[in-house]
Amino acid sequence: MPEKVKTAFRKLLRRTRSLRLRLFVIIFSVALIPCIIMRHALTSNYMEQGVSVRISTVTAQMDTIAAHLITYNYLEEEASEVIDAELAQISALYDGRIVIIGPDLRILRDTYDISTGKTLIAEEVITCLTDGTGVSQYDSNNGYIEIVTPIKGPSTDPEEDGADAGAQVVRGVMLTSVSTDTIAATRDRLAVQGIIVETLTIIIVLSLALFLSLAITVPFRRLAKEMLNVRAGYSNEPIHINNTLETRQICDSFNTVLEREKALDDSREEFVANVSHELKTPITSMKVLADSLVSQEDVPVEMYREFMKDIAGEIEREDRMINDLLTLVRMDRQAAVELDVRETDINALTETVLKRLRPLAGKRDVELVFESVRSVTASVDDVKITQMLMNLVENAIKYNKEHGWVRVVLDADHQSFTLTVADNGIGIPEEDLTSIYERFYRVDKSHSREIGGTGLGLALVRSAVIMHHGIIDCTSTPGEGTTFTVTIPLNYIKL
Ligand code: ADP
Repeated sequence: MPEKVKTAFRKLLRRTRSLRLRLFVIIFSVALIPCIIMRHALTSNYMEQGVSVRISTVTAQMDTIAAHLITYNYLEEEASEVIDAELAQISALYDGRIVIIGPDLRILRDTYDISTGKTLIAEEVITCLTDGTGVSQYDSNNGYIEIVTPIKGPSTDPEEDGADAGAQVVRGVMLTSVSTDTIAATRDRLAVQGIIVETLTIIIVLSLALFLSLAITVPFRRLAKEMLNVRAGYSNEPIHINNTLETRQICDSFNTVLEREKALDDSREEFVANVSHELKTPITSMKVLADSLVSQEDVPVEMYREFMKDIAGEIEREDRMINDLLTLVRMDRQAAVELDVRETDINALTETVLKRLRPLAGKRDVELVFESVRSVTASVDDVKITQMLMNLVENAIKYNKEHGWVRVVLDADHQSFTLTVADNGIGIPEEDLTSIYERFYRVDKSHSREIGGTGLGLALVRSAVIMHHGIIDCTSTPGEGTTFTVTIPLNYIKL
């Protein structure tokens, strides 16, 4: 198929998906199909009924005439004006032909005067003469009914007939053909009237279907227009089209997405501002340190050394912050991708983390205790879980007091394992508990900076927990200590 035809076909197919077109077709068909069926049923039924009524009427009349034929001795060739009048009347009434046949198959009378005196050999006539049963049949192609009526009367020659004296025998047959043209004409008139009514109905239904399909889809078209405005950026306001329940539901969903988008935009802006600010701070202090060295003459070597040490410290902080940021971004991107999940010994993992952090704890004389309730193996991304635990324990050491303690407890049930990191450090005020996972959020900015915090640690922790479909919780009392509880499923389930 050429590409042009294919495109045109696709376009046409897309058009058929239009709600307006579908509504139009439904309304139109629902109103019109019964109308058409009714007209057909009416006209065809009329013909059937008409033919059957005609057969029974004519059969009854022919039975009466058959009796008269016997009474007036018509078969014995006695002329009768009464019979002739009757035959003429019936023929004229039904535009028909009556042929009277004697027992020897000779035609005694033909109302058309064509075949009188001739012999007629027809199966139904012979059958009727033999067993006396009348038949009728309708020839729809030629539009006539043929009725065979036996003429029964007492036998004139019982001996030859082999019948008892006075017994009824078949003395002849009447073959009647009547036209059904008048019935067909009435049916045709009825059909014409039906078509007129149908055409009128089509016009009315067409206008109604057009109007209704337009009216029903108006709210949807308005909805599409408003959404287009938002998409094009002309408007950023929630949309409200409450004409129908459906449009209201669509609007509600759209507005929720819009709100989420706005919140995402806001947080992105805030994040960029925070990043710029945080990255600028070490650079500013480095510049101040460098400037003061440059502006002074004969600076002693000790001062150089001291300032350079400070500058190195700032560089180290900047480096840590960039590393944390890169890890976060990578995690965000990986949330959609797969984790590197493998069977991991959580006890061994915890031991390794604590071993790495023991020197830091030692510096502040913080006691580091690991309490393993049971040995746990779980399907997790060990790098991410290590990073998560490192950050939690590091914070517990950093935000602790001299000679404090940090206790890590590992427990599990049949579904998940729980890591609890508790300390008796400075604690977190209740109002900050919900914000501590935000990027760059610090309860005490200067203190955090002093101890080398970037404000990204808990954001990383939460990302890792969420990626494993786990839960993180924090309880804290300022001045007494903090407890972080992380629960992670033993088996990673890919959603
Ligand atoms: P930072 O790099 O500043 O430590 P985090 O994201 O790791 O950033 O933590 C955010 C803030 O939460 C910290 O600045 C600190 O005020 C508070 N915090 C985290 N852990 C603890 C803890 N164990 N005890 C007290 N405060 C804590």
